[in-house]
Amino acid sequence: MKKLLVKALALAVCMSTLCLAGCGAKPDAPAPAPAAGNTSEGSSEFKTLESGKLIIGTNAEFPPFEYVGDDGEPDGFDMALIKAVGEKLGLEVEIQNMEFSSLVTAIGSKIDGAIAGMTVTEERLQTVDFSDPYYEAVQYVLVTSDSDIKSAEDLVGKNIGVQLGTTGNFIAEDDIEGATVNAYNKAVDAVNDLVNGKNDAVIVDKNPALVFESNFEGQVVALEGSQFGFENEQYAIALPKDSELTPAVNKALEELKADGTFDELVKKYIEEAE
Ligand code: GLN
Repeated sequence: MKKLLVKALALAVCMSTLCLAGCGAKPDAPAPAPAAGNTSEGSSEFKTLESGKLIIGTNAEFPPFEYVGDDGEPDGFDMALIKAVGEKLGLEVEIQNMEFSSLVTAIGSKIDGAIAGMTVTEERLQTVDFSDPYYEAVQYVLVTSDSDIKSAEDLVGKNIGVQLGTTGNFIAEDDIEGATVNAYNKAVDAVNDLVNGKNDAVIVDKNPALVFESNFEGQVVALEGSQFGFENEQYAIALPKDSELTPAVNKALEELKADGTFDELVKKYIEEAE
């Protein structure tokens, strides 16, 4: 089976992480972020689409990382994380909810960046840069409770539901022989078509798969990706190529990990959702 290049990517991400720690940050770059504890003045020096603002795209159809909250606004782990990053950078974060498959091409023209449980892939790296990875993921397979599907071979020739433009979509198309791939704008629609029999399986990231398993309790079961030979993926924030934002976002992520904010968000949004 053709692999998703995830191994090579993991290495590339790893190398870029090492490099950022050691040699990526320009020593003569102006200090971009206001001093910690004094981040509310918005006097940021970053070049963004709108001065003082960080316009970030997401697709709020991917719980627990992003979903539409009770107030109608995008909420979830990624939203909380990017707001905390924005605060460190002295930038007001504005969220634009859009289709997942439009995010990468919108970066630099409609949005300053994207956070959307987005996996670092070689293809996306042709168009954008990624921050250091902030979360490890893997694709899972959702099947109905009475399904016999257990391994990659069992998926051959089946109807597979995916979210359009996602790594699950690429796996279904590139790695599963003879599959009919049904791509949806919302992963939940793929799950609805699993329940009503139009799909035999849905390939979707682990954490949303676990949320769907509990939302469709008794109807669907989430199977681990390792059972299917799927390799780990890394989520990162997508930013314009060669942007001064990238090292600053990395520094903010590092600080949020060091001061415990990151772990608190994992607990609040991810662990409590499972
Ligand atoms: N991690 C997957 C990808 O990057 C799915 C992301 C999503 O659907 N929001 O393609």
